[in-house]
Amino acid sequence: MNLILFGAPGAGKGTQSELLIKRDTMTQISTGDLFRAAIKNQTELGKKAQAFMDKGELVPDSIVIGMVEEVLSKGNSSFILDGFPRTVPQAEALDQLLQKLHLKVDKAIFLEVPNRILMGRLTGRRVCKTCATVYHIESKPSKVEGVCDKCGGAVVQRNDDKEEVIGNRLKAYEEFTMPLKNYYKKTGQYAEVDGNRDTEEVYKSIKALMN
Ligand code: AMP
Repeated sequence: MNLILFGAPGAGKGTQSELLIKRDTMTQISTGDLFRAAIKNQTELGKKAQAFMDKGELVPDSIVIGMVEEVLSKGNSSFILDGFPRTVPQAEALDQLLQKLHLKVDKAIFLEVPNRILMGRLTGRRVCKTCATVYHIESKPSKVEGVCDKCGGAVVQRNDDKEEVIGNRLKAYEEFTMPLKNYYKKTGQYAEVDGNRDTEEVYKSIKALMN
């Protein structure tokens, strides 16, 4: 079973992917995480991506598609595409790539969360600089403020989770990612899950769709 998880920033794609990895031995392919790793390692790809990410803009399609092609070509069983595709041209390129690799995506699951909820999720999100564990200042704080429970690393706010950047990310989502709903309705892969619920409830709905 291969899945696409899509939705607004803060909709819970990463959180649900984490559960699917742990409980269902799936592999996560998160373009956001791949870019953050590239930035941390100061690679050419990271340098190119950072300028866009810091402004809350999407990284150009050609860069993202090339990166995903590299990852998918290595072979993955039961993968979750988290945060990719984010534009219709990316979805079209993905379809071509999957065909070439004799792979298929079974479902494109849209996590629906109202805008007023997204803002609180994003501004309160904190991330471990070392191991990338995600926290939230209200709903999932680290035991000691600023220190990761798992590895002791520094827990910080992502640059693009700052209020002034979030507006741009939500705008990019509405303009470029929302049209994917129709794209996947047409292909018959579309499914929708109410993401404005407890993490476990959302997970159960995703599992129900997978069975
Ligand atoms: P995320 O962690 O998924 O919220 O992604 C963080 C940032 O990485 C986004 O705001 C974009 O700048 C960039 N990014 C991640 N995935 C994509 C994608 N599929 N297309 C374009 N930009 C992306």
